[in-house]
Amino acid sequence: MAKLDEKIESIYNDVLKRNPGEIEFHQAVLEVLESLGPVVVKHPEYLERKIIERICEPERQIIFRVPWQDDKGQVHINRGFRVEFNSSLGPYKGGLRFHPSVYLGIIKFLGFEQIFKNSLTGLPIGGGKGGSDFDPKGKSDDEVMRFCQSFMTELYRHLGEHTDVPAGDIGVGGREIGYMFGQYKRITNRYEPGVLTGKGLTWGGSLVRTEATGYGATYFINEALKVRKDTFEGKTCLVSGSGNVAIYTIEKIHQLGGKCVACSDSNGVIYHEKGLDLDLIKQLKEVERRRISDYALAHKDAKYIPNGNIWDIPCQVAMPSATQNEINGKDAAKLVKNGCIAVGEGANMPTTPEGVKVFLDAKIAYGPGKAANAGGVATSALEMQQNAQRDSWTFEDTEAKLENIMKNIHANCYETAEEYGAPGNYVLGANICGFIKVANAMVAHGLV
Ligand code: NDP
Repeated sequence: MAKLDEKIESIYNDVLKRNPGEIEFHQAVLEVLESLGPVVVKHPEYLERKIIERICEPERQIIFRVPWQDDKGQVHINRGFRVEFNSSLGPYKGGLRFHPSVYLGIIKFLGFEQIFKNSLTGLPIGGGKGGSDFDPKGKSDDEVMRFCQSFMTELYRHLGEHTDVPAGDIGVGGREIGYMFGQYKRITNRYEPGVLTGKGLTWGGSLVRTEATGYGATYFINEALKVRKDTFEGKTCLVSGSGNVAIYTIEKIHQLGGKCVACSDSNGVIYHEKGLDLDLIKQLKEVERRRISDYALAHKDAKYIPNGNIWDIPCQVAMPSATQNEINGKDAAKLVKNGCIAVGEGANMPTTPEGVKVFLDAKIAYGPGKAANAGGVATSALEMQQNAQRDSWTFEDTEAKLENIMKNIHANCYETAEEYGAPGNYVLGANICGFIKVANAMVAHGLV
């Protein structure tokens, strides 16, 4: 653990005590608090007003039972969560994750990160996150629909375009958002598109929302490469996962002249030296919902490595886009040793603290998730703007806005890191820049 400022250390110890066993939440809090030493020196009022203690305590945490029936009539009980973390800058905004590993500690780590990420976008959105330990894998469409309906039957009372606006995350894509929106509309008798983002294009969705997180992460790293007078052109890249974020990261990297040679899912890794066939990945994952191993059935020169470690493959740019803590200290050291010069986190907190230290010590271009993957939520906020105007913008206009937002996030993180004496350290830049805006709003709002 890095040395914490003495006063901040006691705040962190309280967080550990108050939230026992929530290790991912502890990790996310520590990573932010490690950056705040120089901030409280400049702004003692944050300590006086206990801004850090308040930011670490969610404004509201909702946990609920989600009963549903499978196709055979068997009853199942899952647990639903919504953590409304901080509404200083706008309504709570953040995705819903459906994955068996979900528990309160995961939702709190994601919600905490979301506060600073949303602040970095420059858009009026607070931070929240939710989800369930439901596993959509292997379920029929009808089962997923019944689950989503049951989940929304409780969640709807906590939502609203001015209150809390969820979106997708792992296991929650367009299909799930559709079922949840349908149930919300039915219960409330209101066609209120601004209550969920990631909607279908014919019923209030925004162009570019599907692509936004992957495109945005790639734009962020493109900016970081530009600072180093470099580009994606000709670079060999790795993208872990093969879901929403991974697919559109691969697409943008290919558009910018890079070559992605490997992707993965939770069962294994596909390595295709001549470059990944993205149309096939989209067909397998977005249309047929199959495993990534099937890629090798169509491409005999591609290799499938069951339970493989994608970070063993040499690359110049790595884009972790699957899940938390997927790059440990050893993986990070291997990446650097093999010539990796940039890491862009499409996923949330995909690198362990040991791994982060390796990247920072090696001074590679390392874009932490709360900055690099903010394009998704930023485009969700653009979706909310279009809903409020009852308008829809073209793909080109919306993508230009996204690119501009990512350039601004990069510039703000870069400049903040310089200002605080740590040039090139986007972790420090993102944490400080994201924190100060929220902290100032909290001071302005008084003790609430
Ligand atoms: P998807 O569900 O579309 O895809 C997730 C991918 O990661 C799948 O290929 C999945 O494989 C793999 N994966 C998930 N869990 C694990 C695990 N424990 N071990 C190995 N592989 C795993 O999710 P998204 O693409 O939407 O999300 C990916 C990451 O990006 C998450 O960290 C999410 O929080 C983050 N993110 C997403 C945003 C969005 O707009 N969607 C916005 C910002 C961040 P399998 O199918 O085998 O489970």
